[in-house]
Amino acid sequence: MTHGNGRYAPSPSGDLHLGNLRTAVLAEAWARATGRGFRLRIDDIDAARSSEISADRQLEDLEAVCLTWDGSVARQSDTLERYEVALDRLVEDGLVYECYCSRKDIAEAARAPHAVPGRYPGTCRDLTDAQREQKLEELAAVGRVPALRLRAQVTEWSVREVFSDEATDGRYTGDVDDMVLRRGGAQDTGFAYNLAVVVDDTLAGIDQVVRGDDLLSSAPRQAYLAHLLELPEVEYVHVPLVLRPTGQRLAKRDGAVTLRQLPGETYAEKAAAARAWIDASIGDAALADPSLLSHEPVTWE
Ligand code: GLU
Repeated sequence: MTHGNGRYAPSPSGDLHLGNLRTAVLAEAWARATGRGFRLRIDDIDAARSSEISADRQLEDLEAVCLTWDGSVARQSDTLERYEVALDRLVEDGLVYECYCSRKDIAEAARAPHAVPGRYPGTCRDLTDAQREQKLEELAAVGRVPALRLRAQVTEWSVREVFSDEATDGRYTGDVDDMVLRRGGAQDTGFAYNLAVVVDDTLAGIDQVVRGDDLLSSAPRQAYLAHLLELPEVEYVHVPLVLRPTGQRLAKRDGAVTLRQLPGETYAEKAAAARAWIDASIGDAALADPSLLSHEPVTWE
């Protein structure tokens, strides 16, 4: 038994689909079954893609499927100064550099013969001061600011992962690259998700992160950042995604099924149907003891 917390942290960019709601229920079950508290956080760091209306609807749906959380709902937009402190610390440690690349520059560099897919090719990592000045001027001339990237000292990192099939002996090792810490662009577009998540989880005493399998590859980057910032290590639990019968995963962007789209006369009926489907897909045994959860993907038909 521990005294830490689990959490669920949706991004308010649309209604949660049944896969998201299922993960939320699992996150609470896992936290409670391991003697932890359970927190809810609205991940609204990306202001352009987040909306208050969406956050309200997500909270309503989470409550409707009987999720309960401790304390008030945290919001990333309330803790921006904490991200600044974390970034400053990395800057002081000489671990941050400006990156002047556009998406197109990165895509082009990624096609080079020795490029590793998905990894920043390091174009701006070792520029001279004179080169930086020139790049900065070029960017300013088109009204853009540079991104800030981490000068990573490792190429991979190992995390505690207690569920995923991709873990060995309770650990998962994955890529770490010079990730963005603060986005660049036409104006200063804010802190990057990886930095924010690490700071937020520490602030809320989170020591267990249950989330969809699609974020497994982000875990080593996040854990490495936590290590550099001397923040506590968390335990990860990446659970299978809900798939369509075609094998594609449910995703907000292609209109995945949400609670409100379920058949039913009233919102309460739809919510009951959503929770019944979630419970059936998890099973009574795994609801009581989530370590018994099946590793098989779940299909929504
Ligand atoms: N807010 C992120 C999302 O909805 C998840 C963050 C996390 O669980 O670490 O994709």
